[in-house]
Amino acid sequence: MKCSECNNEAVIYLSYSQKFLCSKHLSRLVEKRVGASIREYGMIEGRKRIGVAVSGGKDSLTMLYLLHKLLGKDRRLKLIAITVDEGIKGYRDVSIRNARRLAKSLGIEHHIYKFTDYAIPMDRLMKHKKTDPCSYCGVFRRWILNKAAGELKLDALAIGHNLDDIIQTFLMNMMRNEPLRIARFTPNGGIIESEAFVSRIRPLFSIPEREVMAYALCNNIDFHNGECPYAAYALRNPVREFLNNMEEKYPGVKFRVLNSYLSVLKNMKVPENLTTRTCITCGGPSSTEQCKRCILLDKLKKQMGH
Ligand code: SF4
Ligand code: ZN
Ligand code: ZN
Repeated sequence: MKCSECNNEAVIYLSYSQKFLCSKHLSRLVEKRVGASIREYGMIEGRKRIGVAVSGGKDSLTMLYLLHKLLGKDRRLKLIAITVDEGIKGYRDVSIRNARRLAKSLGIEHHIYKFTDYAIPMDRLMKHKKTDPCSYCGVFRRWILNKAAGELKLDALAIGHNLDDIIQTFLMNMMRNEPLRIARFTPNGGIIESEAFVSRIRPLFSIPEREVMAYALCNNIDFHNGECPYAAYALRNPVREFLNNMEEKYPGVKFRVLNSYLSVLKNMKVPENLTTRTCITCGGPSSTEQCKRCILLDKLKKQMGH
């Protein structure tokens, strides 16, 4: 098939716009859309030091590559890559190498923060506890990224969530009746998050997963394609499948869910009593006396006989 915009061979078909695109035109489309999201949501406005969370997978490395391409020439801005090493052998130790390689080739400073230093490495944790690894991993990773943001004096932290991630999470939060989490997961820093947490920006939020993948392949981004051995999301997998089936039957439905999420966000009334306190153990921001990371860590240490 030929590209709908030129004579080159097409690499992807976009059913929502009924277009075939070649590698050049797909790249152009993705870059334009990411650039527009960054501007529209003021993701870098007034900000100088932008952290980029890179795991080494396709989303985060594409994000790093794109941010460097779109913003790299702006001398007022500094991009700093951060990788969290959760301590998962055969997975994260491999993907870290991909992250390191890309950061190095783009000349971007790269920092690695380890679960060993601030939490319990996942491999060790899983020997004692077989349930719900992602909720522990998520709490620890979030805490570490926030700590890194403080140490590296970041004005914002870019997270590589693509359109599919965002709408899956949106639906999951509705299914769990957790409306406040919807507000926390915004393209540009959560509206209910206090200043004690670094603002999170999501430059890829309007790019469907398969377009991120195609972009990475077309631009020779050397990402790690493995899956975490503990990826046991109970709810995310069926939700992902459901949305993919819907998209196949009704092209464009994913964009419509995204737009509906964005309108919900605009009209959400934010509760006023969300004050942030200081965790009595680590001194980090928390909504309760002790932050989630410290509560979990204390509990795990007791269970594991430390
Ligand atoms: Fe952590 Fe779960 Fe992601 Fe694995 S899949 S890295 S356990 S959050
Ligand atoms: Zn073309
Ligand atoms: Zn704490």
